Amino acid sequence: MDLLEYQGKQLFARHGLRVSSGKPVTTVEDAVSAAAEVGYPVVVKAQVLIGGRGKAGGVKLAADERELREHAGNILGMDIKGHLVRKVWIEHASEIASEYYASVLLDRSAKLPLVMFSTEGGVDIEEVAEKTPEKLIRHHVDALNGLSREEALQIATDGEADEDVREGVADALLALYEVWLEEDATLAEINPLIVTPEREVKALDSKVSLDGNALYRHPENQGLSDSENEDPIERRAKEEGVQYVKLDGDIGILGNGAGLVMSTLDVVAQAGGSPANFLDAGGGSNAEKIKQAVDLLLANEAVKAVLFNIFGGITRCDEVATGLIAAFEEIKPSVPFVVRLDGTNDVEGRRLLQEAALPNVHAAKTMNEAAEMVVALAAEA
Ligand code: GDP
Ligand code: MN
Repeated sequence: MDLLEYQGKQLFARHGLRVSSGKPVTTVEDAVSAAAEVGYPVVVKAQVLIGGRGKAGGVKLAADERELREHAGNILGMDIKGHLVRKVWIEHASEIASEYYASVLLDRSAKLPLVMFSTEGGVDIEEVAEKTPEKLIRHHVDALNGLSREEALQIATDGEADEDVREGVADALLALYEVWLEEDATLAEINPLIVTPEREVKALDSKVSLDGNALYRHPENQGLSDSENEDPIERRAKEEGVQYVKLDGDIGILGNGAGLVMSTLDVVAQAGGSPANFLDAGGGSNAEKIKQAVDLLLANEAVKAVLFNIFGGITRCDEVATGLIAAFEEIKPSVPFVVRLDGTNDVEGRRLLQEAALPNVHAAKTMNEAAEMVVALAAEA
């Protein structure tokens, strides 16, 4: 569960990390009152679950009410990489002497918590990791002992933080580690972690993901999962009781069973494709269910082609084919579908599909063949 910047900052504040005070608002008028309260200059920040807001024009400084009205008016309703801005966060603007980077996450391959720190903050950290890896300090933490003050100071020193703020950086790292651990976060990131001219160390941005499965341990965080954080299609899927996850690519993935769907993602990636979303249609072959699933997949406009991967076990492929044909006769999909039917009664299922000769629907026998077909179709589109 991803949090909006201001929600992450509220968690930060609870654990003693320094943040600027501010207010979330949804209208220009409320932005004006909020700015009067926090004091000019203010910064107007789009609250959407996507990074790079600054570059996209979703973060603006305002010195007075006139500028604030202009920026808040522009940013509210803005589309940032497919995310509609419904809310902006107004905070008192900070003066910046340096921009650092800090994060805590679980390194699955090392099976240890990982603290990262760099004085090259404010920018794309992946780029720092790639081009100047020596400037990104990576420190694994003993999960049982936790992060000690000595270690935190060592990280600040190894990263060559300005000497006079190393204590401050260590405080921030310790607080961030506490956020990650105690809130059951899967990621706690600050970019930039700034040093002010007064040499204060402060979180100017936040990126926090909480483990949804641990949410029951944090009743105070349950309100954070309000629907504004969710992709509208994911929300609709949840309401309809369908397992659906949005990704960033252009190929829709549909399968029966979670394991099959997971491996379909891998096979599509291997074939050079990039999944846009995936949906587990579960068992069953009911045309209504298939129609509902296809509707959800295609609600995402990024989808250029769909791979429907069916392995017939208890669900027989001929039944699935019949359901598919009924569903497609109604939906008339606007993008190509590759249907891989394998398992119980697959020959019969493929024969039915072929005979139905549905426009835009292609049958495949193996997963690899299906993946290659769908990647090629998406590339053509
Ligand atoms: P992101 O682009 O989504 O990562 O949004 P950030 O919250 O990181 O803001 C982007 C950039 O805007 C930062 O790296 C800063 O350079 C700038 N910025 C944000 N808040 C302030 C502020 O209070 N004062 C100043 N001077 N710049 C700010
Ligand atoms: Mn940022």
